[in-house]
Amino acid sequence: MTDSPRDVVVLGAGIAGAALADHLAKRSLTVTVVDPRTPAAGASGRAAGIVTEQLWNPWDVAVTRESREEYRALAEAKEPEAFLSAPFVRLTSEPSVATALHEAVERLRGWGVAVEELRAEELRRWFPQGRFERLAGAIASDGDACVTPSTITSLYLARARERGVETAFGASVDVPHRSGGMWSVVAGPSHWRARTVVVAAGAWSKRLLRDMGRPLPLTPYRTQAAVLRPPGTTSLGGGASLHDLDTDVYARPEANGRILAGDGTEKFETDPDRFITGADTEFLVHLAGSLGRWVPEWGTSEVVGAWAGVCTATPDRRPCIGALDPESGLYVLTGFNGFGVMRAGGAARRLADLIAAPTSESARAALVPVRPDRFGGRADPFPPKAGFTLEGGSHPRF
Ligand SMILES: Cc1cc2nc3c(=O)[nH]c(=O)nc-3n(C[C@H](O)[C@H](O)[C@H](O)COP(=O)(O)OP(=O)(O)OC[C@H]3O[C@@H](n4cnc5c(N)ncnc54)[C@H](O)[C@@H]3O)c2cc1C
Repeated sequence: MTDSPRDVVVLGAGIAGAALADHLAKRSLTVTVVDPRTPAAGASGRAAGIVTEQLWNPWDVAVTRESREEYRALAEAKEPEAFLSAPFVRLTSEPSVATALHEAVERLRGWGVAVEELRAEELRRWFPQGRFERLAGAIASDGDACVTPSTITSLYLARARERGVETAFGASVDVPHRSGGMWSVVAGPSHWRARTVVVAAGAWSKRLLRDMGRPLPLTPYRTQAAVLRPPGTTSLGGGASLHDLDTDVYARPEANGRILAGDGTEKFETDPDRFITGADTEFLVHLAGSLGRWVPEWGTSEVVGAWAGVCTATPDRRPCIGALDPESGLYVLTGFNGFGVMRAGGAARRLADLIAAPTSESARAALVPVRPDRFGGRADPFPPKAGFTLEGGSHPRF
């Protein structure tokens, strides 16, 4: 506990809260990070860690590029195996989706993304055992990466502590309230007063914000992943990630020739305190069928481990980042729609700029596309939308 008021209390020690704490401390603000669990106990400890610039708009691309470079630097200094350069390949057997991919290349290049269209024989560069007879279209972005999200979270927290950030984990956190013009935050026996509170509580943000009297339209939803060991010595070739747009199944390279694969989204709400943490048999069957379409050996992989985690949807699939109530110093960093690893570092830097200078026009402008007040105070229920899709363009599926 600290007697003097803190500048900021961050609620949540996932990758987003950890990155924010680090960026705030860099600006010489006094910061405490509070979490009732351990760091990365939420989605950040269950994510696949794909970081790709094949995204929706220039804001997304800039944020993700910045995140990737931060992760690269963090990992290089302390845990090099937590960052792997890995091109991201999207492919389809459907001609109409191939047209959408072709359009995406022009769009992405316009935003500075290094992306190319590929033929079947070029795909064998990364997937030598692949069977691409049915391929209708494929693209790859060269600058992408895979990270270990729990390690990146730990690295942010370690650096934040070196910069003076206080952390308090493992005690239940009361709903923060205002008293005497300050926020009051209680976790177990500890109590802090703070000028600013940031809700970065992942799937728990919905309940927390509602209990604070500032609800946002957020829907927690369950999504699954598995580590697979293909038979023989096959691996993801030279180390590219793969996303099958026909089935929304993705796979990324893992150590020792394994692959980490997953799919999109359960289309209904999940309680982050009561969800089924293991994977479903149907999910594993779906993975095998989908991966086996392109690389037959992958369809007979051994399942090394499989699990589920809870992500947080918003109605427009954009995150919520910024001031929810600037007068009282209430900010949010949540609603990542299953893409929070790739956005956390760049998003946290932008939010730290705003918290350090709330009236700065440039800091506000940097978060306009994701302003949390864009829903006008409405928090009606809605179903989460599809997961790891190709966004933008005119194809009705995306
Ligand atoms: C299977 C799976 C695969 C994924 N793959 C990818 C991927 O390849 N790429 C990608 O970019 N994203 C991916 N994601 C999404 C990504 O994991 C999330 O978007 C990201 O981790 C969200 O980070 P966060 O810090 O916002 O939330 P979390 O990591 O969920 O952290 C929230 C924290 O808040 C804490 N908390 C809860 N209540 C309170 C409270 N009252 N006070 C304080 N703290 C509280 C929790 O204990 C938790 O530690 C995947 C997710 C899953 C589940």
